[in-house]
Amino acid sequence: MTRSDTPSPPVERPADGDSFNRLALSPAQRANLVTLGYLAMTPVQAASLPAALAGDDLIVQAQTGSGKTAAFALALLARLKLDDQSQPFAVQALVLCPTRELADQVSTEIRRLARSEDNVKTLTLCGGVPLRNQLASLEHGAHVIVGTPGRVLDHLDRGALRLDALRTLVLDEADRMLDMGFLDDIARVAKLCPRERQTLLFSATYPDGIAQLAQQFMRAPKTVKVRAQVDAAHIEQRFYEVKDSERLHAVSLLLNHFRPASALAFCNTKQQCRDLVDVLKAQGFAALALHGELEQRERDQVLVQFANRSCSVLVATDVAARGLDIAQLEAVINVDTTPDPQLHIHRIGRTGRADATGLALSLASLDEMGSVGRIEQVQGREVTWFPLAELTPAPGGRLLPPMVTLQIVGGRKEKIRPGDVLGALTGEAGFGAAQIGKINVNEFSTYVAVDRQIAKQALERLAAGRVKGKKVKVRLVQE
Ligand code: AMP
Repeated sequence: MTRSDTPSPPVERPADGDSFNRLALSPAQRANLVTLGYLAMTPVQAASLPAALAGDDLIVQAQTGSGKTAAFALALLARLKLDDQSQPFAVQALVLCPTRELADQVSTEIRRLARSEDNVKTLTLCGGVPLRNQLASLEHGAHVIVGTPGRVLDHLDRGALRLDALRTLVLDEADRMLDMGFLDDIARVAKLCPRERQTLLFSATYPDGIAQLAQQFMRAPKTVKVRAQVDAAHIEQRFYEVKDSERLHAVSLLLNHFRPASALAFCNTKQQCRDLVDVLKAQGFAALALHGELEQRERDQVLVQFANRSCSVLVATDVAARGLDIAQLEAVINVDTTPDPQLHIHRIGRTGRADATGLALSLASLDEMGSVGRIEQVQGREVTWFPLAELTPAPGGRLLPPMVTLQIVGGRKEKIRPGDVLGALTGEAGFGAAQIGKINVNEFSTYVAVDRQIAKQALERLAAGRVKGKKVKVRLVQE
């Protein structure tokens, strides 16, 4: 799977069964898929697209990284009627997502896939940003809306958004929306959609609420399940037996031995996440916790630091990590073994993507051997055990992430763009572009990752210079 716009060389022709050519897509869309480097369907796409394009309601079990977004995006785009002159900009498709982050990713993917058609308008409607601009955009109309349930309802209640011409409703990461208490909001939105429509529901797991949603709002839905597979060629799995009392310390042994630049550590409970972060921080690691109790702003800040490589270890529960899409993850650490073997496979599938090889390190106590046995069954082979005693610290001193995050007070509101920040650092301040990492511009602040070696100077020079012609306040975001 490619993760960028650059097409990867077609090393191998896809088997015919997986080719997009067997779908009822327009020639322009087929050509667009080739330019995006989508040469073969992913298993989720192959299993869901034929029925989705035929207009069926579907419940699809899929997680981030499976290509699920393109699966529903291609279906909803194919159903758009763009030549209806009576309602040229009526909303024809609505995608509900649990978070703003996911809504932004989904909108980006829909826009890429909509390039084959002239003039498909996609609008994102999420909470946490002022209503005013959204109301103005809605006045111009849009074919596709991607948003979070609360904000979408808000616009429906105000009469700013109408769904009478809706043809497709998508519930993305439905399990997570239920976890976040959106059931009633989703139900209210669904009741405002025409009865004659297609509903596509995507979910990584099947809690009871999903069946309830399906029963109430879907027409004879078909269920699509794709078994998660371990890509053994790209993931090196190692198991370590631990006593409960040494588990947290064992994580620091793993980090010091393997020295991953970025690792995601999974715990079974929020409490375990907090305890582990405390232990790791006390030992000088750049560790951050991601769990359901963070506010959106805190969550954004944690994700920015992890994605821009200024945090070595992100410690998360499975629920909090859903929807997280991070490229370049050197290692996944299973601090606790999960009793659900499919979940184990989802966890470790986050490393070793594309051409990189990833490490999947799992700690298991005697009490967890039953869970390890289930993992072996699902994988169809035994796991390999390694002794903890081999985890000697590798040379290099304290493990530090390669980058450091600086926060600039000022963001989209001040019309700051990534280029302005890059310009300020590479121009007047005199740094090389290679020393500057990801730049995230949010509503009110901007985060820029810089090489750890230049952090102090970059902070001073940015604070002394100007961004977009103005003086700015800058601070170091502490890990
Ligand atoms: P998703 O699971 O929707 O978050 O998609 C994961 C990544 O796979 C995204 O970066 C997509 O752009 C990419 N992708 C989706 N479908 C394909 C495909 N058929 N071939 C290659 N890459 C794909």
